[in-house]
Parts: sequence; structure tokens; C-alpha cells
Amino acid sequence: DLSFHGISPARIQALLAQERDIYAQRHPRSQALAAAASPHLMFGVPLHWMSDWGTPFALHVEQAQGARLHDVDGHTLVDFCLGDTGAMFGHSPPVVAEALSQRATRGLTAMLPSEDAAAVGALLAQRFGLPTWQFAMTATDANRFVLRWCRAATGRKVLLVFNGCYHGTVDDVFVDLVNGQPQQRDSLLGQVQDLTTTTRVVEFNDLAGLQAALAPGDVACVLAEPVMTNIGMVLPEPGFWVAAQALIRQHGSLLVMDETHTISSGPGGYARAHGLQPDAVVVGKPLGGGMPCAAYGFSAALAAQAEAAKRQAPPGHSGIGTTLTANLLAMAAMRATLTHLMTPKVYEPMLKRAAALAEGLKEVIRRHGLPWCVTQVGARAEFQFCATAPRNGSEASAAMDAELEHALHLALLNRGVLITPFHNMMLVCPDTTDADVAALLQAMDEVLALLSAPQS
Ligand code: PMP
Repeated sequence: DLSFHGISPARIQALLAQERDIYAQRHPRSQALAAAASPHLMFGVPLHWMSDWGTPFALHVEQAQGARLHDVDGHTLVDFCLGDTGAMFGHSPPVVAEALSQRATRGLTAMLPSEDAAAVGALLAQRFGLPTWQFAMTATDANRFVLRWCRAATGRKVLLVFNGCYHGTVDDVFVDLVNGQPQQRDSLLGQVQDLTTTTRVVEFNDLAGLQAALAPGDVACVLAEPVMTNIGMVLPEPGFWVAAQALIRQHGSLLVMDETHTISSGPGGYARAHGLQPDAVVVGKPLGGGMPCAAYGFSAALAAQAEAAKRQAPPGHSGIGTTLTANLLAMAAMRATLTHLMTPKVYEPMLKRAAALAEGLKEVIRRHGLPWCVTQVGARAEFQFCATAPRNGSEASAAMDAELEHALHLALLNRGVLITPFHNMMLVCPDTTDADVAALLQAMDEVLALLSAPQS
């Protein structure tokens, strides 16, 4: 019996069992390190997500360079996960490594700016077309801080998001649409507030729903990825953003675009590449070439409102910022990344190779007669277990199958190819070669042959 995605659940289970055995046999050193970590690390890993990869125990990294990751058992993997975008400019880009080593002996953090600060501000303004910037350690924090600024600047309470979104571990966004009703995500741990009182949620590409949600006039901001990338990929329909932007403005709300993943579109993100005009933009993950840092930019109008809100507030904690934010090392990393990596010249071959990857993948999927689609956003491509690209979070979510993903990802890993866990997402970095793309397609072909083979 075939599932909606054309593969039988029994075949998935059989492949999973086989690939788990292969993985366990081939990774004795990772297994030993996982065992050594387990007495003192929760779930045996430094971050509990690391145990969700679908491997029987965590793959331990020996080193990573460019598009390659070398594990502690001596295997070399072609990396299309790239730290889920943190290493989108390749692992340890030499220009970033050099900037870090230059900085590392001259002070790491001082809670004061260095000469990099003004330069990074100017580079961000030039790249993204927004004049005024602040920093954070992670995209999560950047989103959290932007929400605070927007609420303070507008004096409004409500946040509007799209169903199925992810913006980091920002509590406010974990509200789903279930049968048309907002519902707090039940997987959230330790959340004691009712988030539905201040978060409104509508489907992506639903202008009527957006308008209705904005109508009460209490929405501080809409926080959105320009393309949804965290529930599988969902592209905006033609004209959606221009119309949505106008509606948001008309209702006195702000538009915040979270470009953490869509920075794959080009050096100024998706909004710049498509002529959109958000009031604020968030960038994180690869902004420091893999060093923890993030930034957010404001339009002149929003910056003025935000500054006024801070000046009018009583003295004391703003709730915005962390001690290590914009530390000397992070600023040096961002300067190097913005100067040397976030450039059209670096993106051009990435985009070409990602297009080849997407086309090749469509061909492999067609060859196996599977009803799956492939979507590309710049240097990023994703396959989804549905015949036509989903139009919103509900459709995208209906096309997911965690077991199939698990089996596929593990089988690819055992064939030397790493793709992003919890997604079917593949990223191309400046070092990814045509041969690397061919290796991915070859591995995919082999694995799909195993999955679609008749049960013996
Ligand atoms: N925004 C988006 C769109 C993301 O996809 C993510 C992470 N996947 C984040 C924010 C949060 O990034 P971080 O985990 O680095 O804080």
C-alpha cells in the first residue's frame, strides 16, 4: 500500500532499519563519543535538537571546510546542510578565519564598539537598503528584539504571523491555525502564557485573511519570511507581497521580514532582490560566516519611532540586548563576511549550481515516478512530498512525513551526502562543485530506487 507520497510505509521502515545498522557499523568513534557524553549532557548532546537527526547516535564532527564535513570516523561528507544556513558561505571561509585570527589576540569582547562597528553598519545599510541597524547574537534574539521595538514604537500589542512559520525560539510566534482557529503549539515546553491573546495567525498567500486580521487596527507588526522555508518551502504567489505590504501599511502596522533563510536569494536578501519595502529586516545565521551573530535594520521612519520610544521610557532595563551582543569578534566576522562573501560575485555561481541541483532533482524524482515537487529560492532548494507546490502552511504541513524524511536523510548520509534535518532542504555554498551536485543526485537516485522497489 502506497502512502500519499507514493512510497509504502513498510518500505520506509525496512530502509530505516537497514540504514541504521549501516550507520552504527560505520561510526564506532562517533558511538564512543556519544557514549562518553551521555552521563553529563542531556540526551547525550550539547543541544537536544542534535539528537533529532535520525541517526542512531550523533555524528561527531572532526572538521569542516568549504562544502565538506569530515566526521571522527574518517568519512567525508558533501555538506548540503551547512549548519542549517550558518555555514552558507562554506565552512570556515578563509576570509572569516583570517579576520577572526587577526582579532582574536586583540580582545574578544568589551561591551564597547571597535572600528568595525561603523563599517559594518554602512555595509549592512548598503546591502539591504535600510539605514539604521542594531545587533543580536542569534536570529532568534534579533526577532525577539524587533518585536519589542515594534510594539514599543506603535504602542500596539498584537503580532501577526503566517501559519506554519518559524522564527527561532521566539515564544510569540508559536501559534498555529487548527481548523481555522488559533491554537498554541502543544510541543512548546514550559510556556505558561496564553500566546493566542497577543498573536494572530493567518494562512500565507491569503490576502482576505490578512486584511481581516489587520482590520481591528491593533497589529504592531507582521513578522514573516518572504518565502516560508520552515514547513517545507511555500513561495508567495505573484503580487502577494506588494498587495500585503499595502494592506499592512494601510492599517498602520509594520512589516518585518525575517531573511535568516531567504538570504539565500542574494546579498541583500529576498526583499531587496524583489523590490519589496519592509519596515524592518532580520538577518542571522551566515552573517558572520558561522560566528554567532545577527543584525536587524530599520527604515528611517521606524528607527525614529523606536528611538523616541526608548527616550520616552523610564530609565532602566529595555529588555533588548545581551552582554556579548556585537562583541569585537562578531563584528570582525560580520565585516569580513559582508565585504568578501555577501557579494553578487560570490552568489552568482551558488545560484547557478542550486538551479542545476533543483533541475537534476526534478529529473531524478520524475524518473522514479514520484508525485513530489522541488522549489528553489536562490542558493536553497527543497523537495516536498506533494505533486504541486503548496500555497500555504497547511498544505505544506500535509505534505510532510517525518518517517520518510528520516529514512531518506539517513540513507543519503550513509552515501556521503548530508542534507538539512527537519526539512528536505539543500543549500549550495561557494565551494560546492558540479561534482558535489552530481554526487547528491546519484545518492538520491540510489535511495529512491531502494524506496520504490517492490517489497521482497
Ligand atoms: N528565523 C528563521 C526564518 C529561521 O529559519 C531560524 C532558524 N531556523 C531563525 C530565525 C532562528 O535562528 P537561530 O536559531 O540562529 O536563532
